[in-house]
Amino acid sequence: MKLLESLRNLLGDDVVLTGEHIPEKARSDASRTGRQLPMAYIRPRTVEEVSTTLRLCNSFRNPVVVQGGLTGLAGGANPDDQSIVIAMELLTGIQEIDTVAGTMTVMCGTVLEVAQQAAEVHGFRLPIDLGARGSCHIGGNLATNAGGIRVISSGMTRNNVLGLEAVLADGTVVSSLNRMEKNNCGYDLKQLFIGSEGTLGIITRAVIKLEPLPTHQVTALCALDGFDAVLTLLSQARKGVTGLSAFELMWGPFFRFSSRAIGVRTFETDCPFAVIIEQSGETTCMEELLGRMLEEEVISDALIAKSEAERDRFWLIREGLALTEFPDLIEFDVSLPMTVHDRYVTEVSAALNENLPDIHISAFGHVADGNIHLCVSAGTIDNHLKGWIADIVYDGVRKYQGSISAEHGIGTLKRAYLSYSRNVAEINLMRSIKRTLDPNGILNPGKII
Ligand SMILES: Cc1cc2nc3c(=O)[nH]c(=O)nc-3n(C[C@H](O)[C@H](O)[C@H](O)COP(=O)(O)OP(=O)(O)OC[C@H]3O[C@@H](n4cnc5c(N)ncnc54)[C@H](O)[C@@H]3O)c2cc1C
Repeated sequence: MKLLESLRNLLGDDVVLTGEHIPEKARSDASRTGRQLPMAYIRPRTVEEVSTTLRLCNSFRNPVVVQGGLTGLAGGANPDDQSIVIAMELLTGIQEIDTVAGTMTVMCGTVLEVAQQAAEVHGFRLPIDLGARGSCHIGGNLATNAGGIRVISSGMTRNNVLGLEAVLADGTVVSSLNRMEKNNCGYDLKQLFIGSEGTLGIITRAVIKLEPLPTHQVTALCALDGFDAVLTLLSQARKGVTGLSAFELMWGPFFRFSSRAIGVRTFETDCPFAVIIEQSGETTCMEELLGRMLEEEVISDALIAKSEAERDRFWLIREGLALTEFPDLIEFDVSLPMTVHDRYVTEVSAALNENLPDIHISAFGHVADGNIHLCVSAGTIDNHLKGWIADIVYDGVRKYQGSISAEHGIGTLKRAYLSYSRNVAEINLMRSIKRTLDPNGILNPGKII
């Protein structure tokens, strides 16, 4: 019996979509680099249906691509026309919020924002937050080990997961839904799946730690004249601000472009750097810090949000949605030692400008975590030119011993550069873990390694 027939027999026609019933969105994640529709689009309603799908695909040696909210930016969820997509969109729901332990057990197709809101109803904050919150799934966040704007206070996604359940390539369900902070019984299996981009198993459920919901929040937008001043402000904020929950840097050209694009007026004069700094909790120390930093001329100007609407306007500038209007926008997501950030941006911009004087380069990022986002557009360009741009960006990362992917993962788009940030022994170990968990290589083939 053929694979599709077997899947239909066991799962039903409403779960196994083919032909014109496959949604267009299945072609690509948010990198817009995927071109093909999969052979079939499976929407399991239960963990058992995920297991059945994988068991069959494994016995037919058929490639499988997991799709979450499709907001990934590394091409990780892109299928080809021979693969079966397993879409997690129906595996949703909060299974439990334990208000004593401060944990949430959640199905992995749940949209991040839905999980955040559920936590808030119980007086908690989910420590994972990113711009794509309205579409990305908890499963996608785990599979990419998402970063975002709370890393400075809460760490990456992997720091906030206590347990998870994953389905292996052969259909085995490994339920490791630990709810305790302390559990040293052997290898920490969950960490294998977190950040594995759908190549080692399908994550179906997770236990996530919750934080107290802050009662006060203060958000300020600061103008700075030099990168040394940015580093001084960051080190003073780390020492002097309790509950520092965001420190986001925007290089001047991006700050001007994004503010103008959304019509938000801020400082009277142009500034080479702007920082959004946020404190959650007791708020007086932030105001004291800003007063002192103004006096010491570390910052040249500062605006403190007086309302939620004003705070949202600051964050809208940082989110830079206007960038999506650029044709063939390439979004790089690198991490580097903090002290070289400005040197790196200057050197890469100069190298790109030399050959492409009209190129648009926006730089911003979660700088306190070492993370810079570089968004580059040179108009509508071919793959050769895109490769040339990537070579320049990643050569700089290699030079400063940084990471070619701070947050978004490797997917297909950065695979060729993996050796810039991982050594041979590390890559060989990754390959042997992959072979052990997925001996037939059916899970997201061609991604990461
Ligand atoms: C506007 C915008 C802002 C963003 N901001 C940030 C940011 O600040 N920080 C950040 O880290 N990222 C950011 N991203 C990237 C993206 O949102 C994250 O990578 C997110 O975690 C992806 O989740 P998803 O559900 O959309 O995953 P998808 O795009 O569907 O998939 C991503 C990868 O995970 C795999 N996968 C998905 N679900 C599962 C599962 N249940 N089990 C196993 N594998 C799975 C897929 O196969 C693929 O390899 C942003 C993206 C956009 C569009």
